[in-house]
Amino acid sequence: MKHLLSDGGQLIYLQGIDGSYVREIDVKVLGFEGGGYVLDRTIMHYQGGGQPGDRGLLISGDIKIPIHNVKKKGKNVIHLSSEEVDIKEGKLIVDWERRYKIMKMHTLQHAISAVIFKDGYKSLVTEVFPGYGYIESDSTEIVLADEAFNISKIPRSLKRYFVKRNELDPKLMARCNLERLPKSIDEVSVVEIEGLDVCACAGTHVKNTEEIGDYWIRAPGKKVEFGLF
Ligand SMILES: [Zn+2]
Repeated sequence: MKHLLSDGGQLIYLQGIDGSYVREIDVKVLGFEGGGYVLDRTIMHYQGGGQPGDRGLLISGDIKIPIHNVKKKGKNVIHLSSEEVDIKEGKLIVDWERRYKIMKMHTLQHAISAVIFKDGYKSLVTEVFPGYGYIESDSTEIVLADEAFNISKIPRSLKRYFVKRNELDPKLMARCNLERLPKSIDEVSVVEIEGLDVCACAGTHVKNTEEIGDYWIRAPGKKVEFGLF
């Protein structure tokens, strides 16, 4: 099985780094279940892996259906909505302003995790939101290196590709918690930040660290907290 790909739809945002930038797409509606729409494909990230689900609209003619979250249930990706309307197809539009903030935050998190890993700290739990995020590390006394404050000042490009699980270089992937990946996944989505980080990830990311812009970071106790200005 490919990394978190669902039988209930194609995840467009996992198709190269450009996939994260698709803001709207034509979709077929396969059904309504579990409080939301199941589509033939999606540009909306579903909640999980330390990243929230996307929000947006499903539009069909004059009908505008709000999507307030996206979750995976069994094999299906459910676009949660309080409005059940019988439509066969439509245009799916992601709330881009919110989503772009999450993309910046997720890339910032990978970069910070890579920087603190160089100093011997492992990221155990990571969560990002639109504009705020945190990493729980294995140390109570994190000292942040200068590099942690300058991530968006050094332009580094990102790419995403699939690698067969048994072909992953364990040394290269040491900072990721690969053991947390479900065993059923034999093809892994990998996100690479040029010259800084390589990690298995099914989240959405920006194309270049410059896009993150101004941010703040602090390290109280076990946590590293960070956010966008
Ligand atoms: Zn990630």
